[in-house]
Amino acid sequence: MDTEISNDIHQILKDQFGYGSFRLNQEAIIQHVIDQKDALVIMPTGGGKSLCYQIPALYLKGLTIVISPLIALMQDQVSALKQNGIAAACLNSQISDEERRDLFAKIENGTLNLLYLSPERINNPRTLEYLQAKPIKLIAIDEAHCVSVWGNDFRPDYVELGQLKTLWPDVPVVALTATADDTTQKDILKQLNLTEAQTFVNSFERQNIFISSRPGQKRIEQITDWIASRPQTSGIIYCLSRKNTEQVSQKLNARGFRSRYYHAGMEAHERQEVQASFQEDEVSIICATIAFGMGIDKSNIRWVIHYSMPKNLESYYQEIGRAGRDGDPAETLLFYSWGDYINLKKFIDDSPAEEQFKKIQNAKLERMFQFASSQSCRTNQILSYFGEYKTENCNHCDICESPPKTIDGSLYAKMAISAVTRVREKLGIQLLIDMLRGSGRKEIFQLGLDKIKTYGVGRDIPSSHWNHYISQMIHQGILKIDLSQYSNLKLTPLAQSVLKNELKVELTEFNAPTKKKEPYKPQKTALDEALIDKDLLSKLKQWRTQLAREKNVPAYVILHNKSLDQIAAHKPNSKNELLRIEGIGLEKLKKYGEEILGLVRG
Ligand code: ADP
Ligand code: MG
Ligand code: ZN
Repeated sequence: MDTEISNDIHQILKDQFGYGSFRLNQEAIIQHVIDQKDALVIMPTGGGKSLCYQIPALYLKGLTIVISPLIALMQDQVSALKQNGIAAACLNSQISDEERRDLFAKIENGTLNLLYLSPERINNPRTLEYLQAKPIKLIAIDEAHCVSVWGNDFRPDYVELGQLKTLWPDVPVVALTATADDTTQKDILKQLNLTEAQTFVNSFERQNIFISSRPGQKRIEQITDWIASRPQTSGIIYCLSRKNTEQVSQKLNARGFRSRYYHAGMEAHERQEVQASFQEDEVSIICATIAFGMGIDKSNIRWVIHYSMPKNLESYYQEIGRAGRDGDPAETLLFYSWGDYINLKKFIDDSPAEEQFKKIQNAKLERMFQFASSQSCRTNQILSYFGEYKTENCNHCDICESPPKTIDGSLYAKMAISAVTRVREKLGIQLLIDMLRGSGRKEIFQLGLDKIKTYGVGRDIPSSHWNHYISQMIHQGILKIDLSQYSNLKLTPLAQSVLKNELKVELTEFNAPTKKKEPYKPQKTALDEALIDKDLLSKLKQWRTQLAREKNVPAYVILHNKSLDQIAAHKPNSKNELLRIEGIGLEKLKKYGEEILGLVRG
């Protein structure tokens, strides 16, 4: 590493962003890019990818182009940069004529440092021609996995970005993403023509996140238990549909919790309002579709629940990654069921996409379901999915915390197999279980299932346990689900071997969801809560809200919660002391220093 550059970039980090040290890999990447070399950066959400191009942009001066798929996200990033006194702008259909004139004037007189564009915009031949005459120093492509059909969010507009390297062969390109397995990484490099690029991969392991997964039964009850034992903490409940977010939120509110919902079908101003109230800790529980979270930069989210299983591990990991960005302990809970699996599968199969694409999506869904229902260290499963291989247990997942015991499940398997045989393979899982348990539900009588010999033979085993056992029998290939026939359970050749006592069936015992006594608490906590002066904190938040409204920017763009917490704990008494607060650089000191010191003293 070049020490002179190292000093300079540390200075930029401190002066412009108010941070004292680089995070893992940031410095190496920044040096590499400043050295005019291409890079592919794989870092988990919250790892700090933005600085990997923002600091080179400042160092190299001239104009850096940033390509990003979401307008809302772009705008927030630009607002945040402007707050730090950095000349950034975004070019999209939503900016005013005045902003547009100002932006081009700045490009013309060479004072614009970072220009954010959508892929559609940069691919426009007129834009390209215009930019070619400008002193472009660096091209950053954020969310680079969108270029690959192997990723989980393919966008056709991204594919054309491959031309950038051809048009600007001498300009370094840095592509960044939080989600890319091995295949996707290679594909990104190929699609973007980055033949010489170095790939930087940060471990995906998030040590502060506790991962757990449970069969999706009595979900609302489980969620209310969960929330009740974690009072006053912020969390997100991800649901698959818009309607679902509203229903879950209503149910929680009816049980005395305060939650709100968020989805893409709401008016923009409504969404903004919900997001702001979450950001400001006015409401702590949000039931949302995956539309929520992309643009938020809330660092103190303590838990993420998936009300239903997501479609693949990439989405899942990205969503749980929104928890614990401040490095403090956070927890996640995933619910899964065969019903979830079947819905998602139908969705894929019925989509108008190409067969090849459907095949990939189905394979990903399969992996997701295996992960959710499996009985080995969950962190290691995720890591291996993304190409990191590790054998030691993680000690921050439910499986490591209480390893499941194996039992001889041959008797249960025989009960299930003979039930499937007697109903001539014409029942789905839930009805079959209800029959085994001798349930009195009306469909049972309508279908005459109470007359069948196996009716009620498994009544001593709770439904949730049955579900768990039958899932394993399916994974072990003893039973199968026929998706072409109402998802009915069918027998496989192995079922015969079980009946003939040729095959012993090992199952893992059902671990009842323990009402965990204590939320997960690993090693360190960033800041001792007890040090925080709550009165001061609330004054600081009021001041920030007011300011954010005046400037029409999200509150975190003014200062992060973490910065406010530190101010309320350390009570800085001078400008110099204020500079030690994370997130306060020279520009923010100039803008807000006096006011903050006034609040601390007052
Ligand atoms: P990503 O794009 O990888 O999800 P961001 O670039 O948005 O992550 O960064 C996540 C958060 O971490 C932001 O609030 C950012 O300001 C902060 N951050 C990034 N690098 C550092 C650092 N070196 N020190 C302190 N905070 C940092
Ligand atoms: Mg980012
Ligand atoms: Zn583990």
